Amino acid sequence: MLRQYELVDRVLAYDPAADEDLLNRAYVFSLQAHGSQLRASGDPYFSHPIEVAGILTDLKLDAETIATAILHDTIEDTVATPEQIAKLFGPNVARLVDGVTKLSKIEGTTANERAAENLRKFLLAMSDDIRVLLVKLADRLHNMRTLHFITNPDKRRRIARETMDIYAPLAERIGLYGFMDELQTLAFQQLEPEGYDTVVKRLAALRADDGDMVARTSAGLRSLLADAGIDADVRGREKRPYSIWRKLQAHAIAFEHLPDVIAFRVVVPNVAACYRALGTIHQRWQAVPGRFKDFISTPKRNGYRSLHTTVMHSERMRIEVQIRTAEMDREAEFGLAAHWAYKDGGDLTAPARVAYPWLKDLLDAVDHAASPEEVLEHTRLAMFQDQVFAFTPKGELIQLPAGSCPVDFAYAVHTELGDTCVGAKVNGRVVTLRTPLVNGDQVEILRSKAQKPDPAWEGFVASVKARAAVRRFVRQQERGQLLTMGRKLYDEVVGRLKLPLSEDAVDAALGRLKLADRTALYLALARQTVGDTALLEAVVPGSTAGLKPKKRGRAGPKAAISITGLTPGVAYQLGDCCHPIPGERIVGVGRAGSGIEVHSIDCARLAEVAGEGAGDWLDLHWGDATEGSVARVAAVVHNAPGSLAALTAILAHHGANIVNLTLSERDRAFHTFVVDIEVDDLAHLTNIVAALRATQAVVTVERVKA
Ligand code: MN
Repeated sequence: MLRQYELVDRVLAYDPAADEDLLNRAYVFSLQAHGSQLRASGDPYFSHPIEVAGILTDLKLDAETIATAILHDTIEDTVATPEQIAKLFGPNVARLVDGVTKLSKIEGTTANERAAENLRKFLLAMSDDIRVLLVKLADRLHNMRTLHFITNPDKRRRIARETMDIYAPLAERIGLYGFMDELQTLAFQQLEPEGYDTVVKRLAALRADDGDMVARTSAGLRSLLADAGIDADVRGREKRPYSIWRKLQAHAIAFEHLPDVIAFRVVVPNVAACYRALGTIHQRWQAVPGRFKDFISTPKRNGYRSLHTTVMHSERMRIEVQIRTAEMDREAEFGLAAHWAYKDGGDLTAPARVAYPWLKDLLDAVDHAASPEEVLEHTRLAMFQDQVFAFTPKGELIQLPAGSCPVDFAYAVHTELGDTCVGAKVNGRVVTLRTPLVNGDQVEILRSKAQKPDPAWEGFVASVKARAAVRRFVRQQERGQLLTMGRKLYDEVVGRLKLPLSEDAVDAALGRLKLADRTALYLALARQTVGDTALLEAVVPGSTAGLKPKKRGRAGPKAAISITGLTPGVAYQLGDCCHPIPGERIVGVGRAGSGIEVHSIDCARLAEVAGEGAGDWLDLHWGDATEGSVARVAAVVHNAPGSLAALTAILAHHGANIVNLTLSERDRAFHTFVVDIEVDDLAHLTNIVAALRATQAVVTVERVKA
């Protein structure tokens, strides 16, 4: 634990004019307030706020922020009161401590009234002074560093999950990449211990194989730039395990084919040198197309500036290179906090009370939300999504989540405009409704009174408002769909009779089936409470003698899988071709005699089914009460002892039951296995695939569809 004088010395080192007395009084007050409380580690509780303060000295923050860190748990966990803090440490520190206390209250709570209200207060406090967030992030970072002392595994997981979902993205949002990396690494280690171990071991093996590859490549870069007269500091570093894991999840490649496990950072004196260094590197090695990004001329929304490129360093190795000035480098590590730093000579730059636009969006959304659940949904959306800004023909600015299309735009302007939009002109050119908008687009919505919201829109809209409007409409349409489906089934079954059916015959059949009218019959057929055999028998008694009833799909109410978009009771079956699993986008197609077939949206079979005269696609969604589904993957493994065992061990570790396993191809070097596994949902499958890809024995893994 940092001692009192050590902490004060650290602050004085970067700010000789800091309020030493304030720091000393805060230290003594916190020490007395926390008294004999202990941490899970057995350390005195008091060590925690001091370590948090220590973390913030790395960011060279002002004495008020450091004092806030020292005092941050006194109101929540001791008998100290806000009034006391205000009296002893002044209004600024009191306000900051209050902000941190409020955010701490939402930790671990679920979507309830209290959480939403506290979140609102916190956001207000934070939008006034972003230092509250810096203290909170340092608090979380220290708690994650000491997470292993907590004995309850559920609690550890909950904290790690919250860190991954809320705090790491917040750190990213304000450009605090150093915090983000460490928070993600620690949370990843907790949430996916096997994945973490595998990646770390593979990195170690790579280091052993390649020797001092990083040092050699760094030296090569440095001398190349020196020859061009550029004074550059070159550092190579491995990507973080979590970032590698994410890449393994996203791409169909094995660990050793990951292009850039190692990234190089080139720090040069000024902006002109950045571009000269880039030119020099591109002249020496071929640039990989599509990988060059200029965040200097167009900084990221969180202020991040740098040049990024990837080059073919050798036949089998691509390397990523980030080029920036020393100032940009410091900003990239400390983000917004870098602006608080003391300049040479001890002048405090004015606190960057930057009106970060995303914070304002968030407050608006929270203010206008109807329920606490909605507040939390908005919070996630607003925190995690970037925005896109577009204009109406009159020049009014409309703000939308990134990825929005003209439908989102129309709904953002007015619900009625959204309901009736048929097309759009973007910057004077007619585009489709699903064209993504980019910043600065001028959008004119084309409308028709005859238009109605299309369920398919839900597949591409990005805004909460548009999605809610389309869903509402889809619900209203469900009954209509059922009727249409039932009518088709009726026509198909009655068509087999190859003779016209009189109204009287239909009435007689309805009587035999004890149904009131045709509508009831269509609904019964769609819900499969009346099958085609029963219908034929009712229309022409005796006609189905000797016929076996057709095999049926799962009846809705009995199935443990719930799919919204289907009216309860409608029979459906999951496509044998694509094996759709919860979490992926699905559509249903109606087929006479077999209810509704559910396919994943990219299933090749969909086109064939449509060609066989099935009707419109139903836009379906997975519900909550899902049971496991079977997914099929093809894994190419080295033809070596233990390869198959390694594969099955990983599946077992992840709790994925193997339903079927076949050896589909073999040669001297490789074996290809096709494995059907039971998974909970898409996220579960994605993790398994990443774990397999990280394994030495496995060359490639891919999902098999169709
Ligand atoms: Mn704390």
